Amino acid sequence: GYRARSAYKLKQLDEEADLLASGDTVVDLGAAPGGWLQVAAEEVGEGGTVVGVDLQRIEALDEADVETIRGDMTEERTRHYLREAVGERGADVVASDMAPNMTGEYSLDHARSVHLARQALDTADELLATGGDFVVKVFQGEDLDAFRDDVAASFQYVRTVSPPASRDASSEVYLVAKGYTTSPVAKGD
Ligand code: SAM
Repeated sequence: GYRARSAYKLKQLDEEADLLASGDTVVDLGAAPGGWLQVAAEEVGEGGTVVGVDLQRIEALDEADVETIRGDMTEERTRHYLREAVGERGADVVASDMAPNMTGEYSLDHARSVHLARQALDTADELLATGGDFVVKVFQGEDLDAFRDDVAASFQYVRTVSPPASRDASSEVYLVAKGYTTSPVAKGD
C-alpha cells in the first residue's frame, strides 16, 4: 500500500497527462510522507531516479533509487542540494504537491499556496531538461490565472486538472504543463 492517499492523485494525473516514464529523473517537492515518491519510483523503474524534498523528515523507502532532502524550498541552500542531487542531465519531471499550513483564512492560504507554486516553477526552470514536464498543486483564487500564464510561457501547453482523488478536498487544483521549451542555453546559464 501507499503511505499517503495522495498517491492516487499522482497516479490519476499521470494517467491523464502521461507524465512518468521508465528511466526518468523525477523531482518531487513537498514529498512527505512519500506517497508520490512511491508512485514515481514504480513508474521510473530501476533505471530511473527520484529525488524528494520536504520540510519534514521522510522515512526511508524500499526503492533503491529514491533520494530525499530535508529542507525548505524557499531557501537557496535547499535548492543547491537539489541541483547537486539531480546533476547535469537535468530532470524529466518536476512535481510539486507543496501546501502551506492552513490558517482557514481563504485569501492568505491562497497567497501562500501561490508563493510555494512559484518556488516550484523557479525550480522547474532551473532543473528541467528541454521537453520536460511540470505539475504543481495550487489553491484556487485570484492569483491563479496570472500564475497559470507564467507557467504557460515556458511550456508547449498547460492544463488545469482536478483529479478525482482530490475533488472532495478543498479548492486545490493541479496545473499540468507539458514540454518545457526554454533551454538552459537560451537562459544564458
Ligand atoms: N505528495 C505527498 C505524498 O504523497 O506523500 C504529500 C504532500 S503534503 C500534501 C504537502 C507537503 O508540503 C508537506 O509535507 C509540507 O511539509 C510540504 N511543504 C510545505 N512547504 C514547504 C517548503 N517551503 N519546502 C518544502 N516542503 C514544503
